[in-house]
Amino acid sequence: MNINEYRDIYVFTEIRDGRVIDATLELLGEAGRLKAARPSLGYQVVAVVLGEPEDSLLSTLGHFGADKVLNLRHENLAVYSTEIYTTLLNDLILTDKPDIFLVPATVLGRDLAPRLAARCDTGLTADATKLEFDPENPESSLLYVTRPAFGGNLFGTIINETKRPQMTTLRPGVMEMSARDTTRTFQVEKRPVSLDGLKDGVRILETLHRDHMAVDITKADIIISGGRGVGDNFHILRECADMLGAEVGGSRAAVDEGRIAKDFQVGQTGKTVKPRVYIACGISGAVQHLAGMEKSDYIIAINKDPDAPIFSVANMGLVGDALTILPQLTEEIQRY
Ligand code: FAD
Repeated sequence: MNINEYRDIYVFTEIRDGRVIDATLELLGEAGRLKAARPSLGYQVVAVVLGEPEDSLLSTLGHFGADKVLNLRHENLAVYSTEIYTTLLNDLILTDKPDIFLVPATVLGRDLAPRLAARCDTGLTADATKLEFDPENPESSLLYVTRPAFGGNLFGTIINETKRPQMTTLRPGVMEMSARDTTRTFQVEKRPVSLDGLKDGVRILETLHRDHMAVDITKADIIISGGRGVGDNFHILRECADMLGAEVGGSRAAVDEGRIAKDFQVGQTGKTVKPRVYIACGISGAVQHLAGMEKSDYIIAINKDPDAPIFSVANMGLVGDALTILPQLTEEIQRY
């Protein structure tokens, strides 16, 4: 493998319910920032899309930062297949030789990326939270990929010096997507592919949507989260949330105790959220929880313990019983 032949930043496009997911748009934003950080490389940002989506979907990728939209087209690619997607993307990597290949660390991305990395005999850094080019060498295309390790107590930086592409899955909700710009120019290449001889051992019979997943806390403007300190009083949080038009989240301890579903867990092994306001009630502020919410615009913490670590990231801290303070807040809001 001659790693000098590899160039450009490829971003895998995940489509859900006919729309490009935000995590892909965030990767396009990040890829654009990387490209701008090292203009001497002359890299392009290429969004890779499988299937036969509408032209408007392809344009969305250009408007959010792709210089080129590469569409591998076949009518049977609309539904994700591990084996078929892996084979086609491996073929693409062999021909196009991307230097960097980014995949969102979604359920689909976590299924696809390790297989793809193994197939193309490269390494994979999974669940990354930061990317930058080698800070020591301004000409280098070597990527420094940072990810939480040891339960979030440490951050590890991983480099792949000998293999290409430099493949990474990135945690949704961490990178900033660029503002939509409908005046951007970009190229679209539609490349028909053959599925002859390709088959997947898995056949999808039916896709069921879980109703409660209609609520996605990563998109919420305001989140009221409860921890172990709230006990079985999550109804108090919900009443306040209804008043504020907020969503309710929880710490892992609250999830483990069955107070709230895992889909609403905030933190390292849950969702990463960046609402305008995050209200943490009865949450101590373990590093694994902070990893999922510390980028919120404004953090309000309510905790009985004045030394609770959550206060170290809070913009406003209220020392006291959340079960008393929150109903008072709800009452106040009701007055307006
Ligand atoms: P506790 O730490 O028990 O804190 C309860 C807090 O409530 C205390 O600070 C107490 O003072 C306060 N309190 C009690 N009663 C009241 C009251 N009436 N009013 C106000 N305050 C009160 N955790 C996550 O949250 N998300 C994750 O994604 C996550 N991932 C993890 C991954 C790994 C690999 C590991 C090892 C751990 C992970 N954890 C995660 C767990 C994390 O380490 C903590 O154990 C967890 O966050 C603690 O939850 P908590 O703050 O609700 O409970």
